[in-house]
Amino acid sequence: MDSKNWQKAVEFHGHVCPGLAVGFRSAELAMAKLEVSRSADEELVAIVENDACGTDALQVLTGCTFGKGNFFFLDHGKQVYTIASRAKQRAVRITVKHMAFHNPELSRLRGAVSSGNASETEKSEYEALQKRHIQNILESGEDCFNLAFVDMELPDRAVIRRSVTCDKCGEPAMETRTVKLAGKTLCLPCSKKEIG
Ligand SMILES: [Zn+2]
Ligand SMILES: [Zn+2]
Repeated sequence: MDSKNWQKAVEFHGHVCPGLAVGFRSAELAMAKLEVSRSADEELVAIVENDACGTDALQVLTGCTFGKGNFFFLDHGKQVYTIASRAKQRAVRITVKHMAFHNPELSRLRGAVSSGNASETEKSEYEALQKRHIQNILESGEDCFNLAFVDMELPDRAVIRRSVTCDKCGEPAMETRTVKLAGKTLCLPCSKKEIG
């Protein structure tokens, strides 16, 4: 585990949590298997199947970001990450093995703390256990994950499309996201209002 990168991920995400740690370790292991480093441009592509904490670590480590157009979100509610390299024409899919980081005592304490029923002792127990839990995730090996090369069609590189002005609201919108309605060019929100 690279602690400097972990600090960067924590700074970006805003707090330390197990979800961030899982995303972080997933990205590290997947990138090691692919034998790639952080993507300055669009060499790497990341596909995340959830929109929770771990995806922030993925953006920091892979350099794949929403804004660059090489970070794709599939709303599956699954802690699954796929990282692909254009240069190598290969992709690795990674997910935590079932129960790999299961910790019943931590779950019990978390429940007590979040419901406000925890004693002071339980609160400090929870904090200590949570810290150790996160450390364990960060130090975990491939044995805790399902990690494999997969075949996948790489998405096209991001293209810059021209903008046109919406005839109703006057705001520029990407041409491919506008519709023609009764001779007018409308942005998507305006076209929805028009159609009802
Ligand atoms: Zn978090
Ligand atoms: Zn409009």
